[in-house]
Amino acid sequence: MMNLPSEITICEVGLRDGLQNEKTIVSTGDKLSLLRDLVDAGFPVIEVGSFMHPKKVPQMADTDDLFKALVNEFPGVEFRALTTNLRGVQRAADCGCKKVKLNVSASREHNLKNLNMTPEESVAGFADCVKAAAEHGIEVSGSISMPFGSPWDGRIPQSEIDSIIDAYLDVGITEISLSDTSGMGVPNQVYEMCSHVHTKFPTVSWWLHFHNTRGVAMANIMAAMEAGMTRFDTSFGGLGGCPFVPGAAGNISSEDVIHMCDESGITTGIDVRKVMAISRKVQTILGHTTDSYLLRAGCSSDLLQTVK
Ligand code: ZN
Repeated sequence: MMNLPSEITICEVGLRDGLQNEKTIVSTGDKLSLLRDLVDAGFPVIEVGSFMHPKKVPQMADTDDLFKALVNEFPGVEFRALTTNLRGVQRAADCGCKKVKLNVSASREHNLKNLNMTPEESVAGFADCVKAAAEHGIEVSGSISMPFGSPWDGRIPQSEIDSIIDAYLDVGITEISLSDTSGMGVPNQVYEMCSHVHTKFPTVSWWLHFHNTRGVAMANIMAAMEAGMTRFDTSFGGLGGCPFVPGAAGNISSEDVIHMCDESGITTGIDVRKVMAISRKVQTILGHTTDSYLLRAGCSSDLLQTVK
């Protein structure tokens, strides 16, 4: 029998990871309406946006406004935003955001080329952000992108990933996401890495973030669950991509993961039908379809009711 958890936590990242790759700029009103729908559907954690320079990522320019409108409205839900630097932490403090996520690439090539630093040096540089965040009562998490493989370095040795995790722990960050931005992870590798880090770094709260670039994101989630992982990022309608990765696809779709959990007896606390309605709304707003099996095929339970 598979060793699966009875309950998992899902973070909806469509408003950030999904929308940041879309050409259509979604209005703040539409985003707020989607946010309220997501809370109503039962998502306990939602990635609202990012504190990037508005000129660099225009789709995320209203992240501050979204937080200002949401502050105190839904006390039980964790709203987080991606940030890269101290300026972002200051913006978080000003708009009432209580959780920020920093990111580093596991790819040495990528990091050296873009930032002229090793991944460990990048993480050490986050110490200022952690200090400032603490002063404002803001929680900080970290993410490591491309730990399962990068287009520049190929497979990355586990010792290099461990050294980045150590760097995060050194600056006091104990919530870490392994983000398969390039969609290069495969289940046996995911199982091995998750088992390894779960045992070696018992104080860390892990998140897994899989893009479905090569159709194995769901299998990777199962492999991670089998290794004891219980926190996953997903995106409504399977929206998403990555500007740096050729042919990148979206995150695994929220409704597909929730449906799989429902059918497997794994509690998410999220209403799959409400999520499907949200994903349809997103498709209407953007004017195109997205990578969602469930929006094409419906829930299995519907079929069981009609086939006699
Ligand atoms: Zn992503």
